[in-house]
Amino acid sequence: MTDVAQRLAQVQTRIHAACQRAKRSPEEVTLIAVSKRHPPEAIRAAWEAGQRHFGENYAQELRDKATLLSALPGLHWHAIGPLQRNKAKYIAQSAHAFHALDSIEIAAELDRRRTGDKLPCFIEVNVSDESTKSGVALNDVETFVEAAQRFSHLRVDGLMALPSPHLDEKALRAAFRALCALAQRFNLPSLSLGTTADFEIAIEEGATHIRVGTAIFGERPKPPPA
Ligand SMILES: *Cc1c(COP(=O)(O)O)cnc(C)c1O
Repeated sequence: MTDVAQRLAQVQTRIHAACQRAKRSPEEVTLIAVSKRHPPEAIRAAWEAGQRHFGENYAQELRDKATLLSALPGLHWHAIGPLQRNKAKYIAQSAHAFHALDSIEIAAELDRRRTGDKLPCFIEVNVSDESTKSGVALNDVETFVEAAQRFSHLRVDGLMALPSPHLDEKALRAAFRALCALAQRFNLPSLSLGTTADFEIAIEEGATHIRVGTAIFGERPKPPPA
């Protein structure tokens, strides 16, 4: 068994245990293996071990990997990072879901560029409200959801959050719970929460999609020098 396959199996065991504690079915939780900056061979190893959902942060990297690995059946690409308007076409063309929608301008560009089935989108919410500028402010989520739902080539599926890594467990649970309540209020079925650091807590608080990189692929290679 490859390292990736072994670590993937460990993550699955932990997902099952968290689901059991939360009295949820593991089928309610989609594991997205975050492969950003890892080589295509790592993705192939995870695919051979049965993994089908992958997350990428950078639009061109997602597009390039999707092209390179297009022969692998069943691959699903989740774009999880912030998106610039001039890169939206790559996501509209190659991604199966976009998790970081926080701008109507980007929504309009995705809508304009998408052909075929609707692009499932998660609206990123700023739950911990400090230095980070990404995510829609809690007070603006309702207006944003309504606006995003008007685009005919997008489908608003849920909410996403990436809380500050400095929150303690209590604050983190409170943030996840607030997001879960918001999603219910707007009748959105999906919640994209949790990374290597906190995916079990996210599952206990209602996540339907978890985004796990390091626990599956190991430490990420450093970005190339600019
Ligand atoms: C990189 C990234 C992850 C995965 O982080 P790990 O700590 O490696 O599990 C999850 N979500 C987003 C938005 C990311 O950028």
